[in-house]
Amino acid sequence: MNLSNENIIHIKNDKTEYIQFKKLLEYQDIITHAFSLGINVNYRTITKTEKGEINKVNYNKAMYDYENLCTSLELNKNNIVRPCQTHREQVKIVKRKIKQGKPDIYVDEYAETDGLITQNKDLILATTSADCILMLFFDPVTKTIANIHSGWKGTLKQIAIKAVEKMQIECNVKPENLICCICPSIRDCHFEVRKDVKDLYKEKFKNIKELDKIIKKREDDKEKWNIDTIQLNKIMLKQKGLKEQNIIDSKLCTVCNSEIMHSYRIEKAGFGLETAIITLK
Ligand SMILES: [Zn+2]
Repeated sequence: MNLSNENIIHIKNDKTEYIQFKKLLEYQDIITHAFSLGINVNYRTITKTEKGEINKVNYNKAMYDYENLCTSLELNKNNIVRPCQTHREQVKIVKRKIKQGKPDIYVDEYAETDGLITQNKDLILATTSADCILMLFFDPVTKTIANIHSGWKGTLKQIAIKAVEKMQIECNVKPENLICCICPSIRDCHFEVRKDVKDLYKEKFKNIKELDKIIKKREDDKEKWNIDTIQLNKIMLKQKGLKEQNIIDSKLCTVCNSEIMHSYRIEKAGFGLETAIITLK
């Protein structure tokens, strides 16, 4: 299987498998990035044992997979900085590595954080997901990068917009220069919600034109709705000043492609995670 399309290329070697965005590859002298593929990989580390300790088996497996991915991209996995991701809208600027000789995962600094921004070289911003939307941002003018986790809660809380605003204020980024790449995630073909979530979205985005084309009642089940969260994020980003041609979509649904990507909807309990990474050289 090769998932390459007009926006992405699919790379496979003996160690690992991932996609890259063609638009970001135009700047590969400045940045390195990837979204992992494979259900044999698992970047999940934040699970605790009954005693409240970090699950060492999961942690070691994730470190092994990060090692393979980073080696393929000529990166050092010890430079990884990963937020705790709790479906909130907090975005933080990363100034430096905290732990020496190992990745910054489980760092108090990034508790309740779902997005990271940096202008510093050699910090690998990493997020994880199994259906949620991960977004990679790059501004070639100020050389600013960001990595955002936006599930249905994050999209409702407009974390992508919070990230752009933070980059504007703290990094002098102009939205018209920003590139935003949308990684594989659950799409409206499979993202269905009940009335409670549908009502939250209808209220939050009531000013968006043609909302009926984005939130659609399922024909086969009157108590469920499909929501196009990708389209909502694209509309929000354009309203914020990003250019349409700078919003690049991988166009891949994790549920439709669950044989090669982790999907929470398919795997349920014990689900694995893919990762998106981006770093400045
Ligand atoms: Zn799908």
